[in-house]
Amino acid sequence: MTEVLLATRNRHKLREIREILEGTRFSVISPDELAEGVPDVVEDGDTFRANADKKARTLAQMFDRITIADDSGLEVDALGGAPGVHSARFSGVDGADADEANNDKLIASLDGVPDAKRTARYRCALAIVTPDGRARYTDGTCEGSIGYARIGEGGFGYDPLFRVAGDPEGRTMALYSPDEKNAISHRGKALLELLPLLESLLES
Ligand code: IMP
Repeated sequence: MTEVLLATRNRHKLREIREILEGTRFSVISPDELAEGVPDVVEDGDTFRANADKKARTLAQMFDRITIADDSGLEVDALGGAPGVHSARFSGVDGADADEANNDKLIASLDGVPDAKRTARYRCALAIVTPDGRARYTDGTCEGSIGYARIGEGGFGYDPLFRVAGDPEGRTMALYSPDEKNAISHRGKALLELLPLLESLLES
């Protein structure tokens, strides 16, 4: 088993990435499992990739380990692509109540917007950086639309409002099982593409 550092404090991302890596020769460990008091990396990039690169680079140097970072979010067409890179703090509320407040703000922001104009997508950028600074990147997207009220208990973040495009029953992501979500999610797609790049970085 090859252990790779995952530059995140988000327990949901950690769980999903662990699920996706099951059955591969890779496992992930989080900074909080290695040390106490690891500072947060300031996510001040304009793009998901820039933020993922910064998080992976910072932690790869700090811990001298090959490091993966995920930067992800929701783009809503009727909001000009917002909340985008600001998805985690869309409402300005931090911590345990952030998801609830973000979903409330999203429902309110789309008040009066008709169904055909409620299209959205999740985006995930992954970066993998070696301690000596070599880097590889992948991206994944997952198309959908924003509902009017929360439906479902699974997943995290905007999942109770995110209706997955093409789902025959119009289900939200929060109604998907973990395996179903990981098979079609922005994160699942980006991570599957990253694995061969990780292999080649380890060999070179
Ligand atoms: P980050 O830590 O800056 O990458 O923040 C990502 C934010 O985007 C999360 O806090 C969620 O609000 C949202 N997000 C990213 N991926 C997902 C997902 O798979 N489901 C629901 N929300 C997500």
